[in-house]
Amino acid sequence: VIDIKDLAHFFGQGQLKKQVLFDINLQIQAGEVIILTGPSGSGKTTLLTLIGGLRSVSHGSLKLLDQELCNASPGELVKARRRIGYIFQAHNLHKSLTAQQNVQMGLELHREYSVGEMRSKSAEMLEFVGLGNRIDYYPEDLSGGQKQRVAIARALVSHPKIVLADEPTAALDSKSGRDVVNLMQKLAKEQGCTILMVTHDNRILDIADRIVHMEDGQLSNSNLQLVTAG
Ligand code: ATP
Repeated sequence: VIDIKDLAHFFGQGQLKKQVLFDINLQIQAGEVIILTGPSGSGKTTLLTLIGGLRSVSHGSLKLLDQELCNASPGELVKARRRIGYIFQAHNLHKSLTAQQNVQMGLELHREYSVGEMRSKSAEMLEFVGLGNRIDYYPEDLSGGQKQRVAIARALVSHPKIVLADEPTAALDSKSGRDVVNLMQKLAKEQGCTILMVTHDNRILDIADRIVHMEDGQLSNSNLQLVTAG
């Protein structure tokens, strides 16, 4: 579902131009759970934002569900974004919206559903993440782990085939982190999602099919030397 060939990425222009990704090659099959690790500044977030259509790809090839994102138009990038669920480190919930309204935002981009359908789908998804009894709560009345689960529900409510997560447990205490890990595992198993996740969290490593290491903008010894988890 993700096919990356000879991908490179640069930030800045002229003399300030700096290459941050080099010759990235990575193929991910449907249903795989891949963990991306590596030191701070190695380029993990940059790679995730390119795959997620949040940044334009200009060097190499990046295919997402057979859609080529290299030199894609803004409209094509929007289309790519709709096919992906994105979970950020900071949950980015809207303070003035309830849990259910926040989750509903994940459907509004799609413009496919009536308000009633959006409401029932978002309530269902909150149930899935174990917050069925919190749908009318505002973010300030939820714990850190609950907020992150609302953010996960928002990313999943449109049933994306691909979920990208950037350190989803980094801001959480160990109990909430565990809840989120369990949820990611349930997601992979029950919804058959493909998950690509950046994390330093050792508790998550055991749910991975593969662990990919990034250093100085390069994936460890390319795709062939990937370490298998477990
Ligand atoms: P961390 O684990 O700390 O989040 P990371 O591995 O995700 O780090 P990136 O955030 O992808 O690393 O950053 C890779 C490199 O690109 C770093 O050197 C960073 O300073 C640089 N960089 C990231 N975003 C930009 C930007 N918008 N403009 C210029 N340089 C950037």
